[in-house]
Amino acid sequence: MNQLALLKSRADLRAYTASLQGKGLGFVPTMGALHAGHVSLVRRAAAENAAVLVSVFVNPTQFGPNDDFNKYPRNLDADIAMLAGSGATAVFSPDVETMYPEGATTTVHVGALTEGLCGPFRPGHFEGVATVVAKFFGAVGPCNAYFGRKDYQQLAVIQRMVADLFMPVNVVGVPTMRDPDGLAMSSRNAYLSAEERARALGISRGLRAAHAAFAGGERSAAVLRALVLASVQPVATSIDYVTVCDAETLQEFAQNTTDRALLAVAIRVGSTRLIDNVVLGVDPTP
Ligand code: AMP
Repeated sequence: MNQLALLKSRADLRAYTASLQGKGLGFVPTMGALHAGHVSLVRRAAAENAAVLVSVFVNPTQFGPNDDFNKYPRNLDADIAMLAGSGATAVFSPDVETMYPEGATTTVHVGALTEGLCGPFRPGHFEGVATVVAKFFGAVGPCNAYFGRKDYQQLAVIQRMVADLFMPVNVVGVPTMRDPDGLAMSSRNAYLSAEERARALGISRGLRAAHAAFAGGERSAAVLRALVLASVQPVATSIDYVTVCDAETLQEFAQNTTDRALLAVAIRVGSTRLIDNVVLGVDPTP
């Protein structure tokens, strides 16, 4: 099995990337609390690169004042144990001061793609994500970077940033890993009680119903949305959005969808915010 290098500082990271002597590097940014969804990204990266770096960093700038930054699960030993046998070759787990040294003021604002879906419900979130990912890309250097389609808007935002800022990074989107009953894996699922977890299944049930209707020819955005709402409304504590939008621009469809649609959901079950999505038809992500 590979020996896993543990990197804390940017100097450690520099020494590690230099030691690769230009061999292909896969990079998987995470906030830790690793589960099989994260591991699927690492395995994909290991299949396509000589070395795989996983970052574990709970990024304060992407959490709002009422978000779960303080209670977000942190356990580096458990994360390292999760990575055993996954093909990861190094873990970078910087502290906040390493990523945001005193005096740092630059932020990255990606624009239109951040305005819909989660944007209005999480002010500043995508700016925090884009900023920290840009910093990671700057610190890591040229690489293939792996992101989950579970966070579809995030994947789209990162792709846009990399293209707009000419970053030497190839972004790869990886399919959503689900529990056998359909629930999308998420670190936040750990917050759910057994009763809440059972209710959360309404999300994937609704997405499946809409997916089947789309496959059967349904193109009315209102009908597809109503199919999801029928499953989600009875189980949600509150609904942020159920949106049918263009899978590339993320612009909501007013009437009929095209053959390239994204159906995206964000709800709360109890106090836990859950997101999920399905691409209907042609998937434009990498
Ligand atoms: P996080 O630690 O939640 O920031 O997630 C780190 C990366 O793992 C992101 O690119 C996520 O999209 C991805 N990810 C999280 N959950 C899943 C999942 N169930 N399937 C695939 N990728 C996931």
